[in-house]
Amino acid sequence: MVHAPPRPPAGAPPVRINLYSDTQTRPTPAMREAMLRAEVGDEQHGDDPTVHALCDRMAALMGKEAAMFLPSGTMCNVVAILTHCRSGDEVVAHETSHILHSEGGAHAAFAGVQIMPLKGPRGMFTAGDVRAAIRPRTRYAPPQRLLEVEQTANIGGGAVWPLRQLEEVAAVAREQGWATHMDGARLMNACVASGVPPAEMVASFDSVWLDFTKGLGAPLGAVLCGSAEFIGQAWRWKQRLGGSMRQAGICAAACLHALDHHVDRLAEDHANAKALARGLRQIPGVVVEEPDTNLVFFDIRGAGMEVARLQRELLLRGVAVSGLGGRVRACTHLDVTAPMIEEAVAIIRETLAAA
Ligand SMILES: *Cc1c(COP(=O)(O)O)cnc(C)c1O
Repeated sequence: MVHAPPRPPAGAPPVRINLYSDTQTRPTPAMREAMLRAEVGDEQHGDDPTVHALCDRMAALMGKEAAMFLPSGTMCNVVAILTHCRSGDEVVAHETSHILHSEGGAHAAFAGVQIMPLKGPRGMFTAGDVRAAIRPRTRYAPPQRLLEVEQTANIGGGAVWPLRQLEEVAAVAREQGWATHMDGARLMNACVASGVPPAEMVASFDSVWLDFTKGLGAPLGAVLCGSAEFIGQAWRWKQRLGGSMRQAGICAAACLHALDHHVDRLAEDHANAKALARGLRQIPGVVVEEPDTNLVFFDIRGAGMEVARLQRELLLRGVAVSGLGGRVRACTHLDVTAPMIEEAVAIIRETLAAA
């Protein structure tokens, strides 16, 4: 049984072009400088001024009453689902959702909920799909309690939910008396790509969180937002899960720095992703999904190479990509430049040509 992350293959050079994930960004010198200067206190005790500044700013940005700093996005989902649901409840979410596939079964293990997987192109579903998922309120059916969406939809190709569609699915949930939760791991990518301000994007959702460790480039941290009542309840779960922190202002300072300096630049990541998609599309046998944001998914079955082999061969040439659901995923972020994109396309072309 191997549960620890794999180490890089022996003999592989350091990764020069890291398209593996936007989680792999390194804090910039300016961000480290901001961390160094952070005023801190005891977060668990309510005394860390920098954590308060971050939470106040996030609550205002999202148009919610309150916010809570947590170590990770996964913990935001775990705390939010524990807060919204009781054991035996059902959560309605897309079949490709992160809560279903990538959180170690946390929601079954801790909240005791089951997740009803909805189908739909690019990680999204419609109000009609939600309506079709409504169960009769009998003692036989699990009580449905929460609707969950991802903005952007990760496995959906970094797709941006149109605002109208978010409002429509949330309206069906509200009509049923369900709560609504948005996994906003890459919410700012969606806002920058669509031009919709965050508060408007999340207005029809009861709770939402933003990850600071994706394209925003902080070393750790995510902020969960909602009503004062919701965040008050969520604090109990944060404490129970051991996610309450001490001088967390060091990390909150990095997040504040990211809000000041790393949001507008996400547009560059989106332009780089489009350039990457254009370049990859020129390679024979490669089928590329047009990116909305910073995630580029492509299919190399037509090029005659397995995803795992391409990943290995690219690593030997200093390029990292990930494999997700039989496809290759390349992700742009603040440590990836336009010249790196050109070089990556050339290396991928040469590697696939050798197959
Ligand atoms: C990365 C991610 C998460 C988890 O965030 P972590 O900060 O890595 O725990 C949750 N949902 C989506 C859609 C993600 O991409």
